[in-house]
Amino acid sequence: MNSDIQTAKVSVLKPKARVISREHHCISRANISDAALKVLNRLSNAGFQAYLVGGSVRDLLLGREPKDFDVATNAHPEQIRELFRNSRIIGRRFRLVHIHYGRGREQEVIEVSTFRGSHVNDADPAGESLEGRIIRDNVYGTIDDDVWRRDLSVNALFYNIKDFSVVDYVGGMEDILAGRIRMVGDPTERYIEDPVRMLRAVRFAVKLGFRIEPATEAPIQKQAHLLREIPAARLFEEVLKLFLSGYAVQSFEQLRHYGLFAELFPQTEAVLATQEGGFPHTLLIHALENTDKRLAENMPVTPGFILAALLWEPMQELVREYMAKGQHEHEAFKLAADVVISRQIATTAMPRRFSQFAREVWQLQPRLPRRGGKRPHRLITHPRFRAGYDFLLLRAQAGENVEELVQWWTDFQEENSELMASARKTKTTHRPRHVRQARRPRKPKS
Ligand code: ATP
Ligand code: MG
Repeated sequence: MNSDIQTAKVSVLKPKARVISREHHCISRANISDAALKVLNRLSNAGFQAYLVGGSVRDLLLGREPKDFDVATNAHPEQIRELFRNSRIIGRRFRLVHIHYGRGREQEVIEVSTFRGSHVNDADPAGESLEGRIIRDNVYGTIDDDVWRRDLSVNALFYNIKDFSVVDYVGGMEDILAGRIRMVGDPTERYIEDPVRMLRAVRFAVKLGFRIEPATEAPIQKQAHLLREIPAARLFEEVLKLFLSGYAVQSFEQLRHYGLFAELFPQTEAVLATQEGGFPHTLLIHALENTDKRLAENMPVTPGFILAALLWEPMQELVREYMAKGQHEHEAFKLAADVVISRQIATTAMPRRFSQFAREVWQLQPRLPRRGGKRPHRLITHPRFRAGYDFLLLRAQAGENVEELVQWWTDFQEENSELMASARKTKTTHRPRHVRQARRPRKPKS
């Protein structure tokens, strides 16, 4: 009798998985990368469980090409290390193994994680902060523990290499078919545990063209402020994903809709709130549109440029303020850039190369109208000239009265194309290695 109760309790806590056999789903091994298959098969042949998890299963079910392949297993990191010479254990909070295949641009990294214990760990209450946020998350578990700590139901599906079935504990398959973003478990609790999940819900809704279901959506506005507790470096990583995945415009609009943008870019939100419909909004939207367009055409984009656009209005406001106090334009730009950037990095810490890029693009703006003597010849050899000119174009698109200036610089560049080319050549040879450029994923395999 006692054991019946035990069993009943266990089945309430851990609902049974729905196993969708190979003939009832569309995931084919032909669409899984060779590297991921090697990892899955070797783990499986060594007697471990091995599943494809997360975004890759979701994307394969949707007929999209996954960005990368993540694997989950019951093998512990050391056991994984022993099976793969080309692997490295990473992470402090929770140890993962990265398995490397290929070299250079062609390199593929398969991330393998050991099943984690349930997300609220009763045996170790110290694993949670006072507010319920997870601060420790390093207990191994089984697949049916692991599934409940995942964020969205569409990200919580497992593809089993043993029989090619999809294992669904959380109704993720139904949500994929319905185009629905739903948090696993109680959304409020899950946001408190990790506020970044609010950003992830929005990001995936936009990327997949899904709707956030009401219960998942409802707490966001009220809990947006929890993002202030997140380390600034982690928020920056999320910002890059939000604005460099080809859906920057929609991400921006949705983030604003849910009150999340204000937490990421408080200075910008303050200006947008007072100037709704005016220039700033337009410049930003144009910049984000350009970004999406470039990514769609497989052209590189630099985070520094987007940053320059995102922070341009607060920047302008300060410049006006400093100039009203008697500063020279050049000095005002410099001071304003310092202030705007230092305020921003308190929220989203960014590598210096990106803030420096934005700073240079801004500081070129007051130099572009000064066209006397040899100045323009010098200016077009400036390593950021092209970005500065592109930014000027944006300002024109946004309705600023700089059309004539744009035309002048367009003509000047044409007339001095040789000088431009030689400047570009020096720029390329001296190109700092650190200007990382976001790339679009490879074309889907047919
Ligand atoms: P993509 O790689 O396409 O951006 P993804 O779903 O693979 O999407 P990752 O950030 O690579 O996203 O995370 C892998 C998986 O880990 C997710 O699918 C999800 O199951 C889980 N996960 C990631 N971040 C969180 C989080 N903050 N809370 C809970 N689960 C998470
Ligand atoms: Mg992933």
